[in-house]
Amino acid sequence: MKKKVVVIGAGPAGIMAAGVASSNGANVMLLEKNDIIGKKLLITGKGRCNITNDTDIESLIENTPGNGSFLYSAFYTFSNSDLIAFLKEYGLDTKVERGGRVFPVSDRAKDVVDTLNKYLIKKNVRVQLNSSVQKILVDKKKVKGVALKNGEVIECDSIVLSTGGVSYPGTGSTGDGYDMAKKLGHTIIELKPSLVPLLTEETWVKELQGLSLKNISISLFNKSGKKLYTDFGEMIFTHYGVSGPVILSSSRHILNYNFKDIKLSIDLKPALTEEKLYERIQRDFLKFSKKQFKNSLDDLLPQKLIPVIVNLSNIDGQKYVNQITREERKTLTELLKNLTITINGSRPVKEAIVTAGGICTNEINPSTMESKLIQGLFFAGEIIDIDAYTGGYNLTIAFSTGFLAGINSSELRSQEAE
Ligand SMILES: Cc1cc2nc3c(=O)[nH]c(=O)nc-3n(C[C@H](O)[C@H](O)[C@H](O)COP(=O)(O)OP(=O)(O)OC[C@H]3O[C@@H](n4cnc5c(N)ncnc54)[C@H](O)[C@@H]3O)c2cc1C
Repeated sequence: MKKKVVVIGAGPAGIMAAGVASSNGANVMLLEKNDIIGKKLLITGKGRCNITNDTDIESLIENTPGNGSFLYSAFYTFSNSDLIAFLKEYGLDTKVERGGRVFPVSDRAKDVVDTLNKYLIKKNVRVQLNSSVQKILVDKKKVKGVALKNGEVIECDSIVLSTGGVSYPGTGSTGDGYDMAKKLGHTIIELKPSLVPLLTEETWVKELQGLSLKNISISLFNKSGKKLYTDFGEMIFTHYGVSGPVILSSSRHILNYNFKDIKLSIDLKPALTEEKLYERIQRDFLKFSKKQFKNSLDDLLPQKLIPVIVNLSNIDGQKYVNQITREERKTLTELLKNLTITINGSRPVKEAIVTAGGICTNEINPSTMESKLIQGLFFAGEIIDIDAYTGGYNLTIAFSTGFLAGINSSELRSQEAE
């Protein structure tokens, strides 16, 4: 007899689970509350979808600071290379970019969603859109079915709960699955923002709102001066603080500090050593020797940054450049190599790229993704208390845990088969 599997949530985890369960012989229904599948996928990687990372399994785990070791079985069952091969089989070619980041050759996240749609059709998965699940029905600690918001009840033998986290709720990830699992006795580890914009203390940061800095390097230090992270790339100043790729990536490294008492040091000229930068400033000052200091930095810095730097340098902006002392030039050099900002918080979890926290991994069998509390209940994707750095790791987790949940939710257990 065919097993009946209901998958709740058509993100990458749920889509993969549904397709695999159907492939494995089950009768599968994929329930999605939106009117399309993969709504969040469409906005991933700035609309380009960084699908996975071209690296080995150990490195996938290392790049998953939130419970990475829970993922050995998932990654060994369905790895990043399996994912790339799977997408190719369904017509999507991929390419590798900086840091091993894998994208579709077309640079279109929509092509990833279309490919997954093709997969669901090929595997005869029944997709029911506009269907919000409200409750998981259980009898004697065993799954019986689901109740939808509209009152409809669907009976089934197993359920894959893949409703995602609470980040970007406009995409459908509103945390419904946490409530459903909690009602069944599962522990929800505190939900926290990860890969999130950061709040800053200094008021001058707000004057720079909208300024984007490319090719800078940043470092984060804790209260005792220990370096926690360093990275190179692009960042942006906002009305509340700082954001952009290097800031989002860096934020996961200070999650355990609750984003508090952290110093962010920006090297505005990472390609130049302090000596070289000093020489460069000297050359600029010769060129602009008849100008006032505040008008002498045009070749060195973006316009918006100049008044802030002049102010922070404590050098009188009205002063003529040929009167600036050696000591002052040194101070300016140091400032450009180490523009320091105090981080005192983060934007809320709904603005984070991922949700850290979620269903406690101790209550899930890592080899099957089945709940240790409720027979026939499986978890996949961001709903689980796992989170990774940027670089395609979070989608890899969704696909790999989805695959494992899909296989095991559709498996006929020996006593059931008899
Ligand atoms: C802006 C942004 C960019 C990102 N870019 C990347 C990237 O490039 N690479 C990367 O690896 N990761 C990226 N991520 C993270 C990645 O998108 C998520 O980790 C991933 O989508 C999680 O997959 P999931 O299937 O677990 O959950 P989701 O993708 O959140 O899907 C969950 C689905 O469940 C549905 N659902 C929820 N509740 C119910 C209910 N009650 N009934 C029915 N359906 C329900 C939701 O509507 C949703 O469709 C990005 C995230 C954001 C916000």
